[in-house]
Amino acid sequence: MTELKSCSAKELESFLENEKRRYMEFKNSGLSINMARGKPSPEQLDTVEDIMEAAGTDSYIDENGVDTRNYGELSGLSCAKKLFAGILVTVPEKIIIGGNSSLELMFDFLCQCMFSGIGGHDPWVKQGKVKIIAVTPGYDRHFAIAEYLGLEMLCVPIDKNGPDMDMVEQLVRDPMVKSMFCVPKYSNPNGYTYSEETCRRLAALKPAAPDFRCIWDNAYVVHDLYGTGDYLPDILSLSAENGNEDLFVEFASTSKVTFAGAGISCIAASDANTREILARMGIQIISFDKINQLRHVRALPDMDAVRRQMERHAAILRPKFDIIAETLEKELGGLGIASWYKPNGGYFITLSVDLGSAKHVGQLCADAGLTLTKVGAAFPYGKDPDDSVIRLAPSYPSVAELKTATELLCTAVKIAAAEALLV
Ligand code: PLP
Repeated sequence: MTELKSCSAKELESFLENEKRRYMEFKNSGLSINMARGKPSPEQLDTVEDIMEAAGTDSYIDENGVDTRNYGELSGLSCAKKLFAGILVTVPEKIIIGGNSSLELMFDFLCQCMFSGIGGHDPWVKQGKVKIIAVTPGYDRHFAIAEYLGLEMLCVPIDKNGPDMDMVEQLVRDPMVKSMFCVPKYSNPNGYTYSEETCRRLAALKPAAPDFRCIWDNAYVVHDLYGTGDYLPDILSLSAENGNEDLFVEFASTSKVTFAGAGISCIAASDANTREILARMGIQIISFDKINQLRHVRALPDMDAVRRQMERHAAILRPKFDIIAETLEKELGGLGIASWYKPNGGYFITLSVDLGSAKHVGQLCADAGLTLTKVGAAFPYGKDPDDSVIRLAPSYPSVAELKTATELLCTAVKIAAAEALLV
């Protein structure tokens, strides 16, 4: 296909006219498709219900005789720690089990650093204006936490290998840079997995702040779609090898393994970090929901069971990712107006449009009945400096809806590009 940039004005006008005609057909067909959030589909949740029901609650007593109906076991059931140790390829001693949300654990941890301090240092809030590295594009809810806490966000771009490490190494020389948000596997929204080299450089970081703690949000650690998926080293052992055992605090949950909003979550961290976190948690809560922990362990007794469950999700998600990638290629391939990356797992595909037209594309889609993630949401304060990133969340709509939605999206991208080139 000819690149749009090399077309004459006349060719562009006729191209635009065609695409506008197509757009009106979509608009008049009364579409209502929502691709805004990475929510599991009802079909995915049904596969989970089977195993959760089979797990049952015939007994509330765990293998150590703990009565899960009662208070106690603040750090979680030992069987739940084993489950997450398998998922994160670490040891149960490093794990604390939380409630139904890893995001809540991240929020609470950052609040702890802000208002109480970490590693025996002064609370961040007493040290001056605290800065955090925001890998962009990134997860909007991370940025919302940083904004809520008044942390200044320093944007570092990401590519297929992970964040720009030269920039990260430079930025952490500032003692007021105290944290960084990382989604190291199947990043939200690009779907990139940090390379081993990136992980090694991160693990060896020497931040000027002695109380620097990286938020290692491993939300998609077992969420492979194709075969064994991407490799990600265990950051806790890598950082320990570099004398940096306290630098990373890792988070994960079963939100997209079992039930979104009704799963279990965890923190994995060094002895010193877990000690401080548990001391704070002991003030915050008497114990988390252990009945749900036990239910999860019975449903997912070992890593084979986790892999089988993730394969059930993958079987539903794969055709959805495939149809989007195929349609993008068919509609936009060779036009030189947009780029995308097909990830090996996770929940998102990012489409990057050239010519600063993402907002215009988002509006055209909304007007024709397709809701996308708010354009700009993948950047701090909702501002995409290049107006380029469009996050696609394939999980919830059906394959047929996704095909139509992606065709409409591509039509909108072509209209916006042709209009921008004709100005
Ligand atoms: N972290 C990332 C990167 C996510 O994409 C999501 C959900 O979309 C979450 C965390 C939320 O996880 P949880 O449900 O455990 O709070």
